[in-house]
Amino acid sequence: MQHCTYRVYHPLTGYYYIGKGDLRRWVKGNYWGSGRRINDAYKKYPQEQWVRELLGSFSTSDEAYLAESQLVTSETLQDPRCLNLVPGGRGNNSRKHTVEERLAKSLRQKGKARGRRTPETALRISLAKKGKKPKPRFTIVCPHCAKSGDSAVMQRWHMDKCLENPHLDAFAINTLVEKRKQTAQRISLAKIGRSNGHTGLRNQ
Ligand SMILES: [Zn+2]
Repeated sequence: MQHCTYRVYHPLTGYYYIGKGDLRRWVKGNYWGSGRRINDAYKKYPQEQWVRELLGSFSTSDEAYLAESQLVTSETLQDPRCLNLVPGGRGNNSRKHTVEERLAKSLRQKGKARGRRTPETALRISLAKKGKKPKPRFTIVCPHCAKSGDSAVMQRWHMDKCLENPHLDAFAINTLVEKRKQTAQRISLAKIGRSNGHTGLRNQ
């Protein structure tokens, strides 16, 4: 397997992100960077404004890590145009968010009391539901990965939105993966809320 370092660059602002990965996957367009800052930038500036550049190719992962650690140093991170969150090199990739950052974020979200319904809202929803028949449920099969399941769930994670859908480009996949992460976090926060005695998920 060939390894590579790459840069995703936004010429209009000078923003950039540097990463490493499997060269073949890079060529296929699989890498667009990850992390809070690059994702925020993607929300702001459309895909066609970004330029992907191959910086180097290597026959071992170690060499690629070494190159990445030289490209993304703690000084590089001081550059406001650099969208990386952590220095390059082995062992840094799991520290995109520190434990403190994650805890602080979780506390902030709880402070917003997402996921809690006022008694009035709960009553209104419950009354509304009594007037309605539950939606019919049926099983469908995803044509891309052959998984089957409840149609509502499948429509959310598979069918057109399946990560194996060949019509999705790397940018769309990046967006989907990010949305999934956010959903997973929302669900886990809702669970924390429930275990504290609160009930009800936020309306989807
Ligand atoms: Zn699927």
